[in-house]
Amino acid sequence: MNKTKIVVTVGPASQDYEVLKQMFLSGLDVIRINMSHADEAFCDDIIRKVNALNQEFHTHVALLMDLNGPTIVVDSLGGKEYVLAKEETIDIYYDHRIGNQQAISVSYEEIGKDLKYHSHLILGENEIVLKVIDKLDDHITCLVEKAGMLRENMKVISPDCRLNFPFLTEKDRKDILYAHEHQVDFLALSFVRSHENILEVNDLLIQMNDNRMSILAKIETEEAVDDIDEMIRVSDGIMIARGDLGVSIPIERIPGIQKMILHKCHDVGKVSLVATEFLSSMESKSQPTRAEVSDIANAVLDGCDAIVLCGETTVGKYPLESLTTLEKVIESAEEDIPYSEFSDYAMRTEEEGITGSLAYSVATCAFKLHAVAIVTPTVTGYTARKISRFRPVCPIIALSSDEAVLKQLSLCFGVNGVSIPEFTSFDKMMKQAVTSLKEFMDTSEKDKIIITGGYPFREVKYTNFMRIEEL
Ligand code: PGA
Ligand code: MN
Repeated sequence: MNKTKIVVTVGPASQDYEVLKQMFLSGLDVIRINMSHADEAFCDDIIRKVNALNQEFHTHVALLMDLNGPTIVVDSLGGKEYVLAKEETIDIYYDHRIGNQQAISVSYEEIGKDLKYHSHLILGENEIVLKVIDKLDDHITCLVEKAGMLRENMKVISPDCRLNFPFLTEKDRKDILYAHEHQVDFLALSFVRSHENILEVNDLLIQMNDNRMSILAKIETEEAVDDIDEMIRVSDGIMIARGDLGVSIPIERIPGIQKMILHKCHDVGKVSLVATEFLSSMESKSQPTRAEVSDIANAVLDGCDAIVLCGETTVGKYPLESLTTLEKVIESAEEDIPYSEFSDYAMRTEEEGITGSLAYSVATCAFKLHAVAIVTPTVTGYTARKISRFRPVCPIIALSSDEAVLKQLSLCFGVNGVSIPEFTSFDKMMKQAVTSLKEFMDTSEKDKIIITGGYPFREVKYTNFMRIEEL
């Protein structure tokens, strides 16, 4: 049973009911819909299938909606493409014209105001690089530093100037409303530039009276990296989106940034996801490369909560094989996680408090006693989350009668949600814990389990008991 969670992005290669069903059976944890490529009909279809499969298999696979974000794109070129040659110049006007190789416009009219002389623009996936050499009232002039094919709708980013266009687009607002109405569990914010962007979405959710959806900040710009501490503080989790991050900063910096962010998330107990290109070669081949396998293992060993498959499962030829390969590599890498070091480190950085102290005891006891599972009845998910931060060596089984809580836990390392009837007396709950555990996994006589939680249920706000049982 994997502890590191798996997020699968759905697309044409995986939207089919049978493929999704196989993925459910292979143990995916979260389904991600990328709103840059999805319309409402696609979302309706996926949500319907995920709900049906959760019912069929009694699973709690959660839904993650990944917003398009505030991107700037090249305006229309009248359906044409143009070669931009090195050392030539191109003008960018502010009038939404139909462009050609000499003059174009982009979706953000004020771009000239924000750019400085000699600052740069990157088009597409690092396909074209322009340098600003003149600024006039109605346009800027750029020198082509890196030649390439100019296409309409290419993404435009500035690696060295802050562009002050609004964060929330009309499309994103519409998609957030849709997510709210369809009980989506996680909202991933693309191209966040500062923690204020996250607070803006947070305010919107408050206005909608939505206390279900969690906010994940996608780190894919230099500005986001610079503001990482505050981003982690105000969000529910972080996604290291290596695809676009590798366009806005030099790719050789990604491994260091990834390690730094995973460490910081773990420090404060926020969930961390790493996305993109884990198994890129499997988009066309049925086998991964050695380097890809190492990349997955390193993310696991650095303590991420979840790994996100993107192209492999949206457009790849081997979506199922990619998922099973990922599972296999995660499982093997988890053998090498220094669990007790993680627990000790978590204890050193944990603030003083009852739940944290008890969670540490639970994790260390599980390690010393070779416990097969930690079972925790939870009303809000708080205890399970806390224990997850201490990285116990055995699975954490979270029991809750609230489906939304179980789904929220689907991104937490090592936590498995199991639904139970309403919370009752302490003794009944102890029995329930053992019954649920036996239904959930194979156990043997004399196996030790640890049951922990807060009692009286719904009254105490912290974890206050821990009991060791032998089956
Ligand atoms: P995307 O985000 O798939 O929405 O582009 C992931 C990434 O940039 O890595
Ligand atoms: Mn991205």
